[in-house]
Amino acid sequence: MSKGKILVTGGAGYIGSHACKELAECGYLPVTLDNLVYGHKQAVKWGPLIRGDINEPQVLDFIFTSHQPEAVIHFAAYTYVGESVTDPAKYYRNNVAGTLTLLEAMRRHSCQRIIFSSTCATYGQPLKTPLTESHPQNPINPYGWGKLMIEQILNDFDRAYEIKNISLRYFNAAGADPQGLIGEDHHPETHLIPLAIMTAMKLKKELSIFGQDYQTPDGTAIRDYIHVTDLARAHILALEYLTKHGQSDCFNLGTGHGHSVQQVVETVERVSRVKVPVRAAARRPGDPPVLVASSRKAEDCLGWKPEFNELETIVKTAWEWHKTHSNPDYGP
Ligand code: UDP
Repeated sequence: MSKGKILVTGGAGYIGSHACKELAECGYLPVTLDNLVYGHKQAVKWGPLIRGDINEPQVLDFIFTSHQPEAVIHFAAYTYVGESVTDPAKYYRNNVAGTLTLLEAMRRHSCQRIIFSSTCATYGQPLKTPLTESHPQNPINPYGWGKLMIEQILNDFDRAYEIKNISLRYFNAAGADPQGLIGEDHHPETHLIPLAIMTAMKLKKELSIFGQDYQTPDGTAIRDYIHVTDLARAHILALEYLTKHGQSDCFNLGTGHGHSVQQVVETVERVSRVKVPVRAAARRPGDPPVLVASSRKAEDCLGWKPEFNELETIVKTAWEWHKTHSNPDYGP
């Protein structure tokens, strides 16, 4: 039996499309709004796609009137940290102003619940790891600032208009749908795991390792890689938690385990059985040496626990996806 419609902004993107799949498996109908600038229409398989922008009030009015979604899961955003530094206007306009437009439409149509894609980039340089939700939030780039501003706007909209929110602060999303139906397909690709895989597949000559002189056991930076299906599941749990308790909150989503760039490269080599040529490169500005989540709060409150705990399993699902989509653009 259908549980109702959920508006998924950015449902044609990497994490959004995996969330749509989980929503459908849990009996919801995901209604995707995506401008297809970075998303792929072929990734929208579990409900209708409306091609449009969160910045367009008329499009939003049309969706809220015709579909009457009971809640919103909001992924739509530009996500290139480096570009946010060189072109902050683009990020504040799309991510922050776009979210404001979306929230105003929710207000007009009395849609009172939103799950928001936030990020560990709102914490900035970690003072202590693993990071808990109470860690100070001091972003170091416009991308992180925009996400933090949205968290603030959401909390103000709760106080004033009773629009309840849950912000989910992702660590490093990775992997692909274990059934191979959808996966990661960014243009340009900047993330470590897909780039290492593309190098193993000879689509790239070599992989740059950004920094080998960090204060970590092998000198390379450590991140918390969390499987995209585990992330997707957390959104449904957050939605049901919000429906039940009616209280806004925020949760970190990671595995609590860190892996170095070097360990990722070795894992890709093991899974692909191919040597990945690497070259030493300078540190990326603003990259902290270690970013690892404490997800205790999500475990305790949402009952969420990552199922794809092993880096090897995460890389295997990504590898399978890239092998079958080696051209690798499957859209738009
Ligand atoms: N990284 C790297 N080479 C690359 C891409 C990324 O060494 O070609 C490093 C990056 O500096 C970071 C880690 O891999 O320490 C994960 O980077 P990614 O861009 O995947 O995610 P981020 O942590 O920036 O969100």
